[in-house]
Amino acid sequence: MSVKVDPNFMKELESFGLKDASKCFHCGNCTAICPLSEGKTPFPRKLVKYTQLGLKDKILRSPEPWLCYYCGTCSEKCPRGADPGETMMVMRRYLTSKYDWTGFSKRFYTSERFEIIAIVVVGLLVGIALLIFNTGKPDWEHARINSLWPKEKIEIADLIMAAVLSFLLLSNAYRCIKFIMGDLLGKIPFRYYKEQFRELIVHFLTQKQFSKCEDKKQWLIHLLIMTGYSTAFLLVVVFIRLFQRDHIEYELLHPIRLLGYYSTAALLYGCTYALIGRLNKSKPPYKNSHSTDWMFLILLELTTLTGIFIHFTRLLDWPFATYALYVIHLMVAVPMLVLEVPFAKWAHLAYRPIVIFLMKVRENYLRDQASESVESGEVQERAAT
Ligand code: SF4
Ligand code: SF4
Repeated sequence: MSVKVDPNFMKELESFGLKDASKCFHCGNCTAICPLSEGKTPFPRKLVKYTQLGLKDKILRSPEPWLCYYCGTCSEKCPRGADPGETMMVMRRYLTSKYDWTGFSKRFYTSERFEIIAIVVVGLLVGIALLIFNTGKPDWEHARINSLWPKEKIEIADLIMAAVLSFLLLSNAYRCIKFIMGDLLGKIPFRYYKEQFRELIVHFLTQKQFSKCEDKKQWLIHLLIMTGYSTAFLLVVVFIRLFQRDHIEYELLHPIRLLGYYSTAALLYGCTYALIGRLNKSKPPYKNSHSTDWMFLILLELTTLTGIFIHFTRLLDWPFATYALYVIHLMVAVPMLVLEVPFAKWAHLAYRPIVIFLMKVRENYLRDQASESVESGEVQERAAT
């Protein structure tokens, strides 16, 4: 099979945030030290080498970038300061842009200007839509969001948005699966996927691979942001009818209220920790921040803070402040969802567990194939003797 080499590949990757990969002299320290690197899928040195050689096709079919959780241990120990952990991160950005068939992700990752304009435009459209589409009869006596924007209407908008996002994310995830599995995709019987499905869910919910890394705090932060975000998504998009209530507050220990508090606390702690870490460059994963890293954390932090303020203005029964904050809250939250979920950082949430799942499916299938061919070889041998 011919292998295509692109001599300008490193240059191309610079727009995705690549900095130090050219310094690597292939000592192999990083692969030896990585707690997640295994015999059949060694990394990160292999990916640094592909990057230096411009082996784009090999990178496109590589599962390894998704097996790395960016704990930063390899970058800390690299004798050349080649920052292999960051190269793996850059690979994930590059691959996300390649999986995305719309081309939007590439523009989002490679142009800061485009990213800011996209966020501002979506935010303004949301603000204008809220100002145009409302009942026109706000309750100025009490803070009741439903008097202006009834939850049934918000629910319809939410479900349309969720359907569009799911379509985009799933179609991109399908391209990811095709690249990773190649010819095996049509050959592996369904039962292999079924057997591993539970593991897919477990990996998604616990990010348990990350717990094998030395820096347990990074795993905790990752888990808090992921679970906090997923809980908030379920509450405000899928269960908005239960969540957006005006007249009767849930009692303190009601599950909906507890979930809301968990999600808020997890996001606030996780995002603030990561933002401060990036500002101080406190550890390798926070040393090089791409504009999309900042944007993702800032939007998430603002969404959380405006959500907290709304909670208090509702409790204090301040109508104007509640309605104004609600508009600002959605002007921040919607761009974060619409742009980040299918095209940028949030897409990692889907790709990582999917690739870990596929690797296990492939491994089991190939193992069974190998033992079957050994058995049939033995039978033939016996028949011949
Ligand atoms: S990235 Fe650093 S540790 Fe890894 S092989 Fe290259 S020089 Fe060695
Ligand atoms: S950042 Fe951590 S998980 Fe990723 S390659 Fe380096 S050591 Fe492995």
